Amino acid sequence: MNANLRFDLHMHSNMSDGALAPAELMQRAADAGVELLALTDHDTIAGLAEARAAAETLGMLFVNGVELTAEWRGRVVHLVGLNFDASAPGFDKYMRSLMQLRDQRAHEIARKLYKRGLPENLYELARAHAGDSQIGRPHFAKALIELDKVSSMQEAFDRYLGQGTPGDVKATWPSYVEAIELITSAGGIVVLAHPTKYNFTFTKIRELMTDLLAAGAVGLEVSFPGVTPGHQHELIKFAQQRQCYVSAGSDFHSPDQRWTSLGRYPEFHAERLIVERLTAA
Ligand code: AMP
Ligand code: MN
Ligand code: MN
Ligand code: MN
Repeated sequence: MNANLRFDLHMHSNMSDGALAPAELMQRAADAGVELLALTDHDTIAGLAEARAAAETLGMLFVNGVELTAEWRGRVVHLVGLNFDASAPGFDKYMRSLMQLRDQRAHEIARKLYKRGLPENLYELARAHAGDSQIGRPHFAKALIELDKVSSMQEAFDRYLGQGTPGDVKATWPSYVEAIELITSAGGIVVLAHPTKYNFTFTKIRELMTDLLAAGAVGLEVSFPGVTPGHQHELIKFAQQRQCYVSAGSDFHSPDQRWTSLGRYPEFHAERLIVERLTAA
C-alpha cells in the first residue's frame, strides 16, 4: 500500500463535540478527496462502527481513532490513539469511566457558573446539545451563546470555560501512562495531539514527548490548524532527532469553523510519516 495517500488522522463527530454524524463526516471527507482517515472523538469510540461502514462504502481506508484526554505532570494533554482493536478488553470500562468523569465535571462546571450568576439549568442546556454523546466544554459554549451570555465560542472560552476562568474545573483525568497502555495493549499506536496548543514552552514539549515516548507513544502531530511554520519546523526537527513518527490532521469539528476543512492542514515534508506505519504489511 502506498504512503502518498491524502490522509486526515484527526477529526470529530457528534459523538463528542463535532457537528456531524459519523456517516455525514465520512461523506464530507470523501467529497474533499480524503483517501485514508481516522475518526478521533474526545474520549469515546461510539462513532467508529458507523464511520468505518460509511468510509469503506465510500472507498476510503478507515483507521480506528480516539483523542484521549490525559494528565501529565498536573497538566491536561490530548493523546491520539490510532489503529487499535476497539473490542479489546479494557476499552469499555475505560470509556464508561470517562463518560462518568465528563458528566461529573459538567455538573461541576454548571455549579461553578451558577455561583457566578448564570442560570441554574446550565447543565441541562449543555446536555441538550450533547445528547447521549461525550459532553464537553463546547456544549456549554453553545448553551451560553443560546442564552445570549456570549456571542461566540471564543468568547465563551475566554470568559467562562477556558484556563483560569470560573468554569475551568480541575477533573482527574487518567494519566498519560494509562491512556497509552490502553491503546498499545489493544494493538494501536499513540501520538501527541497538537503539541503547541497547551501553552507549553518548547523545552516543556520536549520533556512531555520524552515521557510519552518512554511510555510507548510513537510520535506527534506536526501539522494541524493554527500551527506556525516556525513551530512546525521545531516539531519536525524534534521528530527527526528522536526518530519518531509524525502525524497530521484537520481537527475538524464543524462546517461552521471556516478555518478548518477535512483533509486540510499546513503542508509539510518529513521522514517517518505515520501513514507508512499504518499502511505497513
Ligand atoms: P473539553 O474536552 O471538554 O475540555 O473541551 C475542549 C474542546 O473545546 C476542544 O477539543 C475544542 O474543540 C474546544 N475548544 C477549546 N478551546 C476553545 C476556544 N478557545 N474556542 C472554541 N473552542 C475551543
Ligand atoms: Mn474538540
Ligand atoms: Mn485536542
Ligand atoms: Mn481534536
